[in-house]
Amino acid sequence: MSAERIDGSVLVVNAGSSSLKYQVLDPTTEEVIADGLAEQIGEGSSRIKHRYRGHDVVVEGVLPDHEAAIATVLELFASDGVDIADSGLAAVGHRVVHGGRSFFAPTLIDETVRSEIERICPLAPLHNPANLVGIEAVTALLPDVPAVAVFDTAFFHDLPAAASTYALDAEVAQQYAIRRYGFHGTSHEYVSRKTAETLGRDYGELNQIVLHLGNGASMSAVACGRPIDTTMGMTPLEGLVMGTRTGDIDPGIVFQLARVAGMSIDDIDTLVNKRSGLKGLCGENDFRSVLERADAGDESARLAYDVYLHRLRRYIGAYMIELGGLDAIVFTAGVGENAAPVRADSLAGLENYGIEIDAERNAIRSSEPRVISTDASSITVLVVPTNEELAIARQ
Ligand code: ADP
Repeated sequence: MSAERIDGSVLVVNAGSSSLKYQVLDPTTEEVIADGLAEQIGEGSSRIKHRYRGHDVVVEGVLPDHEAAIATVLELFASDGVDIADSGLAAVGHRVVHGGRSFFAPTLIDETVRSEIERICPLAPLHNPANLVGIEAVTALLPDVPAVAVFDTAFFHDLPAAASTYALDAEVAQQYAIRRYGFHGTSHEYVSRKTAETLGRDYGELNQIVLHLGNGASMSAVACGRPIDTTMGMTPLEGLVMGTRTGDIDPGIVFQLARVAGMSIDDIDTLVNKRSGLKGLCGENDFRSVLERADAGDESARLAYDVYLHRLRRYIGAYMIELGGLDAIVFTAGVGENAAPVRADSLAGLENYGIEIDAERNAIRSSEPRVISTDASSITVLVVPTNEELAIARQ
Protein backbone atom coordinates (compact mmCIF):
# COMPACT_ATOMS: atom_id res chain seq x y z
CA MET A 1 0.00 0.00 0.00
CA SER A 2 1.43 3.43 -0.89
CA ALA A 3 1.71 5.83 2.04
CA GLU A 4 -1.14 8.33 2.36
CA ARG A 5 -0.16 12.02 2.33
CA ILE A 6 -1.77 14.69 4.46
CA ASP A 7 0.37 17.57 3.27
CA GLY A 8 -0.26 20.93 4.90
CA SER A 9 -2.64 19.56 7.49
CA VAL A 10 -2.41 20.21 11.21
CA LEU A 11 -2.76 17.85 14.17
CA VAL A 12 -4.72 19.65 16.89
CA VAL A 13 -4.30 18.23 20.38
CA ASN A 14 -6.39 19.00 23.45
CA ALA A 15 -5.00 17.09 26.41
CA GLY A 16 -6.97 16.79 29.66
CA SER A 17 -5.86 15.11 32.86
CA SER A 18 -7.10 11.66 31.79
CA SER A 19 -8.15 12.33 28.19
CA LEU A 20 -6.74 13.39 24.87
CA LYS A 21 -8.81 14.79 22.02
CA TYR A 22 -7.26 15.16 18.60
CA GLN A 23 -8.11 16.18 15.08
CA VAL A 24 -6.14 16.24 11.86
CA LEU A 25 -7.53 18.88 9.57
CA ASP A 26 -6.65 20.97 6.59
CA PRO A 27 -6.83 24.61 7.71
CA THR A 28 -7.38 25.83 4.15
CA THR A 29 -10.12 23.51 2.92
CA GLU A 30 -11.42 22.95 6.50
CA GLU A 31 -11.60 19.21 5.76
CA VAL A 32 -11.41 17.05 8.91
CA ILE A 33 -9.24 14.12 7.88
CA ALA A 34 -9.23 12.33 11.23
CA ASP A 35 -10.40 12.83 14.75
CA GLY A 36 -10.51 10.90 17.97
CA LEU A 37 -10.67 10.75 21.71
CA ALA A 38 -8.60 8.73 24.15
CA GLU A 39 -10.30 8.40 27.54
CA GLN A 40 -9.47 7.12 30.98
CA ILE A 41 -5.75 7.37 30.41
CA GLY A 42 -3.91 6.02 33.47
CA GLU A 43 -7.08 4.54 34.91
CA GLY A 44 -6.82 0.80 34.37
CA SER A 45 -9.11 0.37 31.39
CA SER A 46 -8.76 2.95 28.64
CA ARG A 47 -10.41 3.45 25.30
CA ILE A 48 -9.65 5.26 22.07
CA LYS A 49 -12.28 6.20 19.50
CA HIS A 50 -10.53 6.98 16.23
CA ARG A 51 -11.98 8.04 12.89
CA TYR A 52 -10.04 8.39 9.67
CA ARG A 53 -11.80 9.63 6.52
CA GLY A 54 -15.16 8.50 7.89
CA HIS A 55 -13.93 5.07 8.99
CA ASP A 56 -14.40 4.44 12.75
CA VAL A 57 -12.48 2.16 15.08
CA VAL A 58 -12.62 1.71 18.84
CA VAL A 59 -9.65 0.31 20.73
CA GLU A 60 -9.95 -0.83 24.35
CA GLY A 61 -6.93 -1.57 26.49
CA VAL A 62 -4.61 -0.08 29.04
CA LEU A 63 -2.99 3.28 28.43
CA PRO A 64 -0.74 4.03 31.41
CA ASP A 65 0.03 7.59 30.30
CA HIS A 66 -0.42 10.19 27.56
CA GLU A 67 2.66 9.04 25.69
CA ALA A 68 1.18 5.55 25.46
CA ALA A 69 -2.07 7.10 24.22
CA ILE A 70 -0.28 9.07 21.49
CA ALA A 71 1.80 6.04 20.53
CA THR A 72 -1.43 4.04 20.06
CA VAL A 73 -3.00 6.86 18.05
CA LEU A 74 0.08 6.89 15.77
CA GLU A 75 -0.30 3.11 15.32
CA LEU A 76 -3.95 3.65 14.38
CA PHE A 77 -2.83 6.17 11.76
CA ALA A 78 -0.24 3.66 10.53
CA SER A 79 -2.98 1.09 10.00
CA ASP A 80 -4.85 3.76 8.01
CA GLY A 81 -1.72 3.95 5.84
CA VAL A 82 -0.49 7.27 7.29
CA ASP A 83 2.98 7.61 8.76
CA ILE A 84 2.26 10.79 10.73
CA ALA A 85 5.96 11.58 11.24
CA ASP A 86 6.53 11.58 7.48
CA SER A 87 3.24 12.47 5.85
CA GLY A 88 3.53 16.20 5.25
CA LEU A 89 1.96 17.28 8.54
CA ALA A 90 2.64 21.04 8.79
CA ALA A 91 2.39 21.43 12.55
CA VAL A 92 0.92 20.24 15.79
CA GLY A 93 -1.38 22.80 17.51
CA HIS A 94 -1.74 22.33 21.25
CA ARG A 95 -4.62 23.88 23.13
CA VAL A 96 -3.18 25.36 26.31
CA VAL A 97 -5.71 26.71 28.79
CA HIS A 98 -3.72 29.35 30.67
CA GLY A 99 -1.20 31.69 29.08
CA GLY A 100 -0.82 33.84 32.20
CA ARG A 101 0.62 37.29 31.55
CA SER A 102 3.30 35.95 29.21
CA PHE A 103 1.42 34.62 26.19
CA PHE A 104 -0.95 36.50 23.92
CA ALA A 105 -0.29 34.90 20.53
CA PRO A 106 0.20 31.41 19.11
CA THR A 107 3.71 30.46 20.20
CA LEU A 108 6.19 28.02 18.69
CA ILE A 109 7.10 25.67 21.53
CA ASP A 110 10.76 25.34 22.48
CA GLU A 111 12.38 24.57 25.80
CA THR A 112 11.96 28.14 27.09
CA VAL A 113 8.27 28.23 26.19
CA ARG A 114 7.74 24.81 27.73
CA SER A 115 9.23 25.91 31.03
CA GLU A 116 7.25 29.15 30.99
CA ILE A 117 4.02 27.13 30.56
CA GLU A 118 5.17 25.03 33.49
CA ARG A 119 5.79 28.15 35.57
CA ILE A 120 2.17 29.22 34.96
CA CYS A 121 0.79 25.86 36.22
CA PRO A 122 -0.15 27.20 39.69
CA LEU A 123 -2.60 29.59 37.97
CA ALA A 124 -4.44 26.68 36.32
CA PRO A 125 -3.64 23.57 38.37
CA LEU A 126 -6.51 21.59 36.84
CA HIS A 127 -5.60 22.31 33.22
CA ASN A 128 -2.06 23.40 32.37
CA PRO A 129 -0.25 20.36 33.81
CA ALA A 130 -2.37 18.11 31.56
CA ASN A 131 -1.74 20.35 28.54
CA LEU A 132 1.98 20.16 29.25
CA VAL A 133 1.91 16.37 29.47
CA GLY A 134 0.23 16.37 26.03
CA ILE A 135 2.95 18.63 24.62
CA GLU A 136 5.70 16.44 26.02
CA ALA A 137 4.15 13.20 24.81
CA VAL A 138 3.59 14.45 21.26
CA THR A 139 7.01 16.10 21.06
CA ALA A 140 8.67 12.85 22.20
CA LEU A 141 7.05 10.95 19.35
CA LEU A 142 7.03 13.67 16.67
CA PRO A 143 10.21 15.62 17.43
CA ASP A 144 10.55 17.03 13.91
CA VAL A 145 7.07 18.51 13.52
CA PRO A 146 6.81 22.14 14.71
CA ALA A 147 4.58 22.37 17.79
CA VAL A 148 2.59 25.53 18.50
CA ALA A 149 0.74 26.43 21.69
CA VAL A 150 -2.56 28.26 21.30
CA PHE A 151 -3.77 29.78 24.56
CA ASP A 152 -7.37 30.00 25.72
CA THR A 153 -6.58 33.27 27.46
CA ALA A 154 -4.85 34.96 24.51
CA PHE A 155 -7.84 36.82 23.05
CA PHE A 156 -8.46 38.49 26.43
CA HIS A 157 -4.83 39.43 27.10
CA ASP A 158 -5.49 43.14 26.65
CA LEU A 159 -8.78 43.48 28.52
CA PRO A 160 -9.11 47.04 29.82
CA ALA A 161 -7.59 47.32 33.31
CA ALA A 162 -10.97 48.14 34.85
CA ALA A 163 -12.29 44.78 33.63
CA SER A 164 -9.20 42.69 34.37
CA THR A 165 -8.41 43.98 37.87
CA TYR A 166 -9.86 42.48 41.04
CA ALA A 167 -10.48 44.90 43.89
CA LEU A 168 -7.96 43.02 46.01
CA ASP A 169 -4.93 44.32 47.90
CA ALA A 170 -2.87 45.51 44.93
CA GLU A 171 0.46 44.19 46.21
CA VAL A 172 -0.88 40.72 46.89
CA ALA A 173 -2.54 40.64 43.46
CA GLN A 174 0.71 41.74 41.80
CA GLN A 175 2.82 39.21 43.70
CA TYR A 176 0.62 36.24 42.79
CA ALA A 177 -0.42 37.33 39.28
CA ILE A 178 -4.04 37.52 40.43
CA ARG A 179 -6.17 39.23 37.77
CA ARG A 180 -8.97 38.37 35.40
CA TYR A 181 -7.58 36.48 32.39
CA GLY A 182 -10.69 35.12 30.66
CA PHE A 183 -10.97 31.75 28.85
CA HIS A 184 -12.61 30.19 25.76
CA GLY A 185 -10.80 32.99 23.92
CA THR A 186 -10.19 30.89 20.79
CA SER A 187 -13.93 30.32 20.52
CA HIS A 188 -14.94 33.92 21.32
CA GLU A 189 -12.56 35.24 18.68
CA TYR A 190 -13.52 32.67 16.03
CA VAL A 191 -17.25 33.18 16.59
CA SER A 192 -17.14 36.99 16.73
CA ARG A 193 -15.12 37.11 13.48
CA LYS A 194 -17.48 34.61 11.84
CA THR A 195 -20.41 36.78 12.92
CA ALA A 196 -18.98 39.80 11.10
CA GLU A 197 -18.39 37.62 8.03
CA THR A 198 -21.95 36.23 8.21
CA LEU A 199 -23.42 39.72 8.41
CA GLY A 200 -21.09 41.03 5.68
CA ARG A 201 -19.80 43.69 8.07
CA ASP A 202 -16.35 44.85 9.12
CA TYR A 203 -15.14 43.07 12.27
CA GLY A 204 -13.74 46.37 13.48
CA GLU A 205 -17.08 48.15 13.38
CA LEU A 206 -19.32 45.66 15.20
CA ASN A 207 -20.27 45.60 18.88
CA GLN A 208 -21.16 42.07 19.95
CA ILE A 209 -22.07 39.94 22.93
CA VAL A 210 -20.91 36.34 22.45
CA LEU A 211 -22.44 33.58 24.59
CA HIS A 212 -20.32 30.41 24.58
CA LEU A 213 -22.67 28.01 26.36
CA GLY A 214 -21.25 24.49 26.58
CA ASN A 215 -20.57 22.37 29.61
CA GLY A 216 -18.20 25.18 30.52
CA ALA A 217 -19.79 28.54 29.73
CA SER A 218 -18.63 32.11 29.30
CA MET A 219 -19.80 35.38 27.77
CA SER A 220 -17.79 38.19 26.23
CA ALA A 221 -18.40 41.77 25.17
CA VAL A 222 -16.50 42.56 21.98
CA ALA A 223 -16.31 46.24 21.00
CA CYS A 224 -15.17 46.88 17.43
CA GLY A 225 -13.14 43.65 17.35
CA ARG A 226 -11.65 44.14 20.82
CA PRO A 227 -12.89 42.23 23.87
CA ILE A 228 -13.71 44.65 26.69
CA ASP A 229 -15.09 42.17 29.23
CA THR A 230 -15.65 38.47 29.81
CA THR A 231 -17.27 36.43 32.54
CA MET A 232 -14.43 34.03 33.42
CA GLY A 233 -11.68 35.41 35.63
CA MET A 234 -8.41 34.19 37.09
CA THR A 235 -9.70 30.65 36.53
CA PRO A 236 -12.54 29.23 34.39
CA LEU A 237 -14.73 29.13 37.51
CA GLU A 238 -16.03 32.70 37.56
CA GLY A 239 -19.14 33.98 35.83
CA LEU A 240 -22.01 31.99 34.38
CA VAL A 241 -23.64 28.92 35.92
CA MET A 242 -22.09 25.88 34.19
CA GLY A 243 -22.61 22.13 33.93
CA THR A 244 -20.75 21.37 37.15
CA ARG A 245 -19.24 24.75 38.16
CA THR A 246 -20.83 27.37 40.37
CA GLY A 247 -19.83 30.45 38.36
CA ASP A 248 -19.97 33.58 40.56
CA ILE A 249 -20.40 32.93 44.26
CA ASP A 250 -19.71 34.96 47.37
CA PRO A 251 -16.12 34.03 48.39
CA GLY A 252 -17.44 34.10 51.97
CA ILE A 253 -19.02 30.71 51.19
CA VAL A 254 -15.54 29.20 50.94
CA PHE A 255 -14.60 30.46 54.42
CA GLN A 256 -17.89 29.16 55.78
CA LEU A 257 -17.31 25.69 54.32
CA ALA A 258 -13.77 25.58 55.70
CA ARG A 259 -14.59 26.92 59.17
CA VAL A 260 -18.04 25.52 59.83
CA ALA A 261 -18.23 22.43 57.60
CA GLY A 262 -14.56 21.58 58.18
CA MET A 263 -13.93 20.98 54.47
CA SER A 264 -10.38 21.03 53.12
CA ILE A 265 -9.34 23.37 50.29
CA ASP A 266 -9.22 20.36 47.93
CA ASP A 267 -12.74 19.28 48.97
CA ILE A 268 -14.04 22.78 48.33
CA ASP A 269 -12.23 22.95 44.98
CA THR A 270 -13.93 19.70 43.92
CA LEU A 271 -17.29 20.90 45.24
CA VAL A 272 -17.32 24.19 43.32
CA ASN A 273 -15.73 22.81 40.13
CA LYS A 274 -17.25 19.35 39.78
CA ARG A 275 -20.29 18.99 42.02
CA SER A 276 -22.05 22.32 41.55
CA GLY A 277 -23.71 24.25 38.73
CA LEU A 278 -26.62 22.43 37.07
CA LYS A 279 -25.40 19.12 38.46
CA GLY A 280 -25.32 20.43 42.01
CA LEU A 281 -28.78 21.93 41.69
CA CYS A 282 -30.63 19.05 40.04
CA GLY A 283 -28.23 16.11 39.84
CA GLU A 284 -27.53 16.38 36.11
CA ASN A 285 -25.32 18.49 33.89
CA ASP A 286 -26.58 17.29 30.50
CA PHE A 287 -28.66 20.24 29.40
CA ARG A 288 -31.06 18.08 27.38
CA SER A 289 -32.13 16.22 30.53
CA VAL A 290 -32.42 19.46 32.50
CA LEU A 291 -34.77 20.86 29.84
CA GLU A 292 -36.85 17.69 29.61
CA ARG A 293 -37.23 17.41 33.35
CA ALA A 294 -38.03 21.10 33.78
CA ASP A 295 -40.71 20.80 31.10
CA ALA A 296 -42.16 17.76 32.84
CA GLY A 297 -42.57 19.77 36.05
CA ASP A 298 -39.51 18.56 37.99
CA GLU A 299 -38.91 21.32 40.57
CA SER A 300 -35.16 20.98 41.04
CA ALA A 301 -34.57 20.99 37.26
CA ARG A 302 -36.82 24.05 36.93
CA LEU A 303 -34.89 25.88 39.65
CA ALA A 304 -31.56 24.91 38.02
CA TYR A 305 -32.84 26.30 34.69
CA ASP A 306 -34.10 29.49 36.34
CA VAL A 307 -30.81 30.11 38.16
CA TYR A 308 -28.91 29.49 34.88
CA LEU A 309 -31.14 31.94 33.01
CA HIS A 310 -31.04 34.55 35.76
CA ARG A 311 -27.23 34.69 35.56
CA LEU A 312 -27.26 34.87 31.75
CA ARG A 313 -29.70 37.78 31.72
CA ARG A 314 -27.77 39.64 34.40
CA TYR A 315 -24.61 39.59 32.27
CA ILE A 316 -26.42 40.36 29.02
CA GLY A 317 -27.79 43.48 30.69
CA ALA A 318 -24.38 44.44 32.08
CA TYR A 319 -22.64 43.99 28.73
CA MET A 320 -25.27 46.02 26.86
CA ILE A 321 -24.46 48.94 29.15
CA GLU A 322 -20.69 48.41 28.90
CA LEU A 323 -20.81 48.33 25.11
CA GLY A 324 -23.02 51.40 24.85
CA GLY A 325 -24.37 50.40 21.44
CA LEU A 326 -24.93 46.80 20.46
CA ASP A 327 -25.13 45.27 16.95
CA ALA A 328 -25.25 41.52 17.57
CA ILE A 329 -25.89 38.88 20.22
CA VAL A 330 -24.38 35.53 19.26
CA PHE A 331 -25.02 32.05 20.69
CA THR A 332 -22.51 29.22 20.33
CA ALA A 333 -21.31 25.82 21.73
CA GLY A 334 -23.43 22.78 22.71
CA VAL A 335 -26.21 24.58 24.56
CA GLY A 336 -26.06 27.85 22.61
CA GLU A 337 -26.20 26.08 19.24
CA ASN A 338 -28.87 23.54 20.13
CA ALA A 339 -31.11 24.71 22.96
CA ALA A 340 -33.69 27.02 21.35
CA PRO A 341 -35.53 27.60 24.68
CA VAL A 342 -32.36 28.99 26.30
CA ARG A 343 -31.94 31.45 23.42
CA ALA A 344 -35.59 32.51 23.56
CA ASP A 345 -35.77 32.80 27.36
CA SER A 346 -32.49 34.65 27.79
CA LEU A 347 -33.70 37.43 25.47
CA ALA A 348 -37.43 37.35 26.27
CA GLY A 349 -39.21 40.66 26.84
CA LEU A 350 -36.38 42.82 25.50
CA GLU A 351 -38.31 44.28 22.54
CA ASN A 352 -38.02 47.75 24.09
CA TYR A 353 -34.25 47.37 23.83
CA GLY A 354 -34.49 46.44 20.13
CA ILE A 355 -34.10 42.68 20.64
CA GLU A 356 -36.75 40.43 19.10
CA ILE A 357 -36.28 36.72 18.41
CA ASP A 358 -38.20 35.13 15.53
CA ALA A 359 -39.74 31.92 16.96
CA GLU A 360 -39.67 30.08 13.61
CA ARG A 361 -36.06 31.02 12.82
CA ASN A 362 -35.05 30.11 16.36
CA ALA A 363 -36.57 26.64 16.01
CA ILE A 364 -34.58 25.74 12.87
CA ARG A 365 -31.79 23.22 13.46
CA SER A 366 -28.70 23.68 11.34
CA SER A 367 -24.92 23.53 11.53
CA GLU A 368 -24.61 26.79 9.58
CA PRO A 369 -24.32 30.31 11.01
CA ARG A 370 -27.79 31.88 10.97
CA VAL A 371 -29.82 34.89 12.07
CA ILE A 372 -32.66 34.11 14.49
CA SER A 373 -33.99 37.62 15.17
CA THR A 374 -36.87 39.22 13.30
CA ASP A 375 -36.17 41.63 10.46
CA ALA A 376 -37.52 44.40 12.71
CA SER A 377 -35.08 43.64 15.54
CA SER A 378 -32.49 46.44 15.59
CA ILE A 379 -30.01 44.16 17.34
CA THR A 380 -29.31 41.04 15.27
CA VAL A 381 -29.36 37.74 17.15
CA LEU A 382 -27.43 34.84 15.63
CA VAL A 383 -26.40 31.24 16.16
CA VAL A 384 -22.82 30.72 15.00
CA PRO A 385 -21.35 27.23 15.53
CA THR A 386 -17.91 27.36 17.10
CA ASN A 387 -14.95 25.38 15.80
CA GLU A 388 -12.02 25.62 18.18
CA GLU A 389 -10.01 22.95 16.35
CA LEU A 390 -10.21 24.82 13.05
CA ALA A 391 -9.32 28.09 14.79
CA ILE A 392 -6.27 26.43 16.41
CA ALA A 393 -5.22 24.82 13.12
CA ARG A 394 -5.40 28.15 11.32
CA GLN A 395 -3.40 29.92 13.99
P1 ADP B 1 -17.86 21.30 26.26
O1 ADP B 1 -17.04 21.47 25.00
O2 ADP B 1 -17.74 22.45 27.23
O3 ADP B 1 -17.74 19.96 26.93
P2 ADP B 1 -20.19 21.39 24.49
O4 ADP B 1 -20.00 22.69 23.79
O5 ADP B 1 -19.98 20.14 23.72
O6 ADP B 1 -19.39 21.36 25.86
O7 ADP B 1 -21.69 21.39 25.08
C1 ADP B 1 -22.15 20.35 25.86
C2 ADP B 1 -23.54 20.71 26.36
O8 ADP B 1 -24.41 20.94 25.24
C3 ADP B 1 -24.17 19.61 27.20
O9 ADP B 1 -24.75 20.16 28.38
C4 ADP B 1 -25.29 19.08 26.29
O10 ADP B 1 -26.37 18.62 27.03
C5 ADP B 1 -25.67 20.33 25.53
N1 ADP B 1 -26.43 20.00 24.33
C6 ADP B 1 -26.02 19.31 23.25
N2 ADP B 1 -27.06 19.12 22.38
C7 ADP B 1 -28.15 19.70 22.95
C8 ADP B 1 -29.53 19.86 22.56
N3 ADP B 1 -29.97 19.37 21.44
N4 ADP B 1 -30.35 20.52 23.41
C9 ADP B 1 -29.88 21.02 24.58
N5 ADP B 1 -28.61 20.91 24.99
C10 ADP B 1 -27.75 20.26 24.19
